[in-house]
Amino acid sequence: MSSEPRAYEQLIYEMPAPKVARIVMNRPKRRNAQGITLTYELDDAIRRASHDPAVNAIILAAAGDHWNAGHDISSDGPRHPSADQIVGLWGGGYDSKGWDGPYAREREIYLELTERWRNAPKPIIAEIQGAVISGGLMLAWMCDLIVCSDDARFRDATAAEMGIAGVEFWQHPYEMSVRQAKEWLMTGTWVSAEDAQRRGMVNHVVPRDELGARTLEIAQTIAARNPFTMKLVKQAVNFAQDQMGRKASMDFAFHLHQIGHMQAMMTNGTPIDVESLPDGIRATFEKMIAAQKAPADS
Ligand code: ZN
Repeated sequence: MSSEPRAYEQLIYEMPAPKVARIVMNRPKRRNAQGITLTYELDDAIRRASHDPAVNAIILAAAGDHWNAGHDISSDGPRHPSADQIVGLWGGGYDSKGWDGPYAREREIYLELTERWRNAPKPIIAEIQGAVISGGLMLAWMCDLIVCSDDARFRDATAAEMGIAGVEFWQHPYEMSVRQAKEWLMTGTWVSAEDAQRRGMVNHVVPRDELGARTLEIAQTIAARNPFTMKLVKQAVNFAQDQMGRKASMDFAFHLHQIGHMQAMMTNGTPIDVESLPDGIRATFEKMIAAQKAPADS
């Protein structure tokens, strides 16, 4: 496979240095919210970098002031992947009745794809600036190293404001201490770059104007090593983390996450607990839900 850049709608794929691929989420006006297009372009880009013998290390960056605002729950773009895009074997039928459809959808696009990227054989380094909210954390956590600027900040709003016990790729107690994870989820507060580093969630905090250079420097250092050995190191550490119960805990929490969605659905007809939403967001969300329902009802 060649290293020639290819066209993506919402990503840039570049080679900023020999042996280093840099994937840039390029949807800055939507703060790089992860919709179907971005999800499957990201899968394609990670697959491409993984298969390309000219790539030894991968950077995951984002355009604009904020790294990632989370999952795109607006009606922009396709709601579901096409049959030939779907990667997992659970299958589609995402509009099936009850929780059959939504479960299949969340399993594919949030749980299984993020886990697949986490297990990509080559080192992936997150280059993070600005806000990372809820679903955005999943994209940060699936990376092997995290370098962020001093203005980076992190928040999982799902428990505090949406009636859900944490994002689908549920890795909180493996990113910080158990008590820090509980407090962070229950209060829904921001964690600053420095605090995230103190907790062990990020490797380095650098001034914003040095973020790109510092991340590239680390990527180049790793890319200069024996690439097969780097794959072995990644597997060894990932395996150790899984022996600490990461994957089993994630699978359990994913299903609690589904119960949170179902509880919200049964009590207020949407998969998010609108009663928990802050007032301003609730009004916008209710309008959006009404707009989404309108064509189907009419
Ligand atoms: Zn969900």
